Amino acid sequence: MPNLNIMVQKYGGTSVATPERIKAVAARIKSYVMKGFSVVVVVSAMGKTTDELIALASKITATPSSREMDMLLSTGEQVSISLLAMALHEIGIDAISYTGSQIRVLTDGNFTRAKIESISTERISRSLKENKAVIVAGFQGIDTEENITTLGRGGSDTSAVALAAVLGTRDCEIYTDVGGVYTADPRIVAQPSKLKEISYDEMLELARLGAAVLHSRSVEFAKKHNIRLHVRSSFNSEEGSIVMPKEEMMEKYVISGVTAKRDEAKITIRDIPDRPGIAARVFGLMGENRIYVNMIVQSTGKDNKASISFTVLKSDLDKAMRLCDSLKQELGATGFDSKQNIAIVSAVGVGMLSSYGVAGKIFQVLSEQNINIEMISTSEIGISCVIDDIYAELAVKVIHKIFIEPEQA
Ligand code: ASP
Ligand code: MG
Repeated sequence: MPNLNIMVQKYGGTSVATPERIKAVAARIKSYVMKGFSVVVVVSAMGKTTDELIALASKITATPSSREMDMLLSTGEQVSISLLAMALHEIGIDAISYTGSQIRVLTDGNFTRAKIESISTERISRSLKENKAVIVAGFQGIDTEENITTLGRGGSDTSAVALAAVLGTRDCEIYTDVGGVYTADPRIVAQPSKLKEISYDEMLELARLGAAVLHSRSVEFAKKHNIRLHVRSSFNSEEGSIVMPKEEMMEKYVISGVTAKRDEAKITIRDIPDRPGIAARVFGLMGENRIYVNMIVQSTGKDNKASISFTVLKSDLDKAMRLCDSLKQELGATGFDSKQNIAIVSAVGVGMLSSYGVAGKIFQVLSEQNINIEMISTSEIGISCVIDDIYAELAVKVIHKIFIEPEQA
């Protein structure tokens, strides 16, 4: 049975950006303590602190050691946890702050993108028994050698969900400035809706396809441990969005989110032999060189030749092109080229599992706008199209309009 007495909450950087905001968060925590909850709070660094620390390091060196980077970045959260504990003391709530190492958040040794392996509940439980609110620094842990590690940008979400998992809670509240999960980016669609519920799988798919509401690993943890994530605003008391198992959702939309991802580029290798082992060679080489490949399309062969197009992060493009150059010689391809100004526009929804014609309808609305689709890929609950970057916003708008706006009405 899940523990319903413990409430795990996470407050993001904007929620604790100023002393006033920290006091407001303390007041909210107090209201939970007054209701009888044992409260465990994970906080991010204040405002843009992490960005500022990264900028500071870049003034010293262009190639900082990743161990020292983690040492540096972890200081941001140490500031916010102590200030929040003080703010609670000010309003008569007993509270204690802990760094990742003090509660033994053990991670692997991959600095700047470490994975949590275990967390000790001993010290937290003791403090909760003493009726203290426990404040934990998000985003950080230690490896087996006691080096400080961090979990990757936005990693405090994962710290919170991992704590909820080891403490056995059913819920984890994630306080953000946006107040929930929306059907589209409000910078593109004028009035997106806030989803009351969304499944873990949709959330993971949206994150993969460009919507950065939650740290992906936090959603994976939540799914594995069946923890409901309540994504909500720290600026008001409105209900946010609950990320939950799809079986328990009340309403399932065909499409619950539309995204545009603009950080990838497309590479095409032309006329490579159409025989077993070629794709394995191309993508094996990319993998060995730690290049993340997203979409892949292979054209049907003619004269035993085929072309392969795929997308990689723009930041990996130069490296990938160098590898293509060596592959060209090796495989006897006629050539290869790349295109940077692309966008991957995607629609995601669990309702796709039980409806027909979704892909056709998406392609239809794009064609009505004369938008050419350069690549297509699908998953169980998502459809993605590579299009020219200049049409990205238009594409999101028309897909949102045809699928989501009628459901909102
Ligand atoms: N402070 C870290 C960051 O800005 C971790 C977090 O906010 O979740 O990425
Ligand atoms: Mg953050």
